[in-house]
Amino acid sequence: MKILLVEDDNSIAVSLVDGLTDAGYEVVRAATGAAAIELEAATTPDVVLLDLGLPDMDGRDVCRVLRGRSRVPIIMLTARSDEFDRVLGLELGADDYVTKPFSFRELVARIRALARRVELDGLADAAGAVDGAGTADGSAVPAGQQIGPLEIDRRTRRVFVSGEEVQLTAKEFDLLAHLARDPGAVSTRTEILENVWDAHWYGPTKTVDAHVAALRKKLGDHRWIEAVRGVGFRLEVPA
Ligand code: CA
Repeated sequence: MKILLVEDDNSIAVSLVDGLTDAGYEVVRAATGAAAIELEAATTPDVVLLDLGLPDMDGRDVCRVLRGRSRVPIIMLTARSDEFDRVLGLELGADDYVTKPFSFRELVARIRALARRVELDGLADAAGAVDGAGTADGSAVPAGQQIGPLEIDRRTRRVFVSGEEVQLTAKEFDLLAHLARDPGAVSTRTEILENVWDAHWYGPTKTVDAHVAALRKKLGDHRWIEAVRGVGFRLEVPA
């Protein structure tokens, strides 16, 4: 598995390259945002580890550029621990983040979780093309699902409301697809974090609320996702 490490700090980069190489990964390193954008295209890594504070560009802009052309999983390495940046990073299309200083073991656990997820998504996509994507509980949800005026195509990851396509980020789609597995049923914030992010997510549950708010806006009616006070959320066709 190939990892693109984008980090300008030499001491951090050298120890990460050594550690990841020892752990069996092939590592390509970029020290600037411009180099990262170039190397991502040239080397097609399986995962990108992206530092936010780069000398020439904001890491979030690098994330935006990469996400604009590729579905490569991106883990942000951030020294900023305030939630605003984390939520914004996730909304820009990053798949996960770790806050510096992080332990090497934690980072490798995140990389593995993400790689597993991407692999499972690939399998689900392939299964969805034939007879519906499998769900965590083993029941089959059809690749194309219609809920009132809402249409969700898991195979192509496209969403339509009354025939109009709605552009969702990867996380917004995953969140909607999760709630749509059982329309009307309540999912707790923890369930959502575990299913839509991953089981090793340590972030604030408020992240879910931020994504729900963005998703409601895009679906054009806040009643699509009902908040169940003190419990979680459910998907409901607006009356
Ligand atoms: Ca830096």
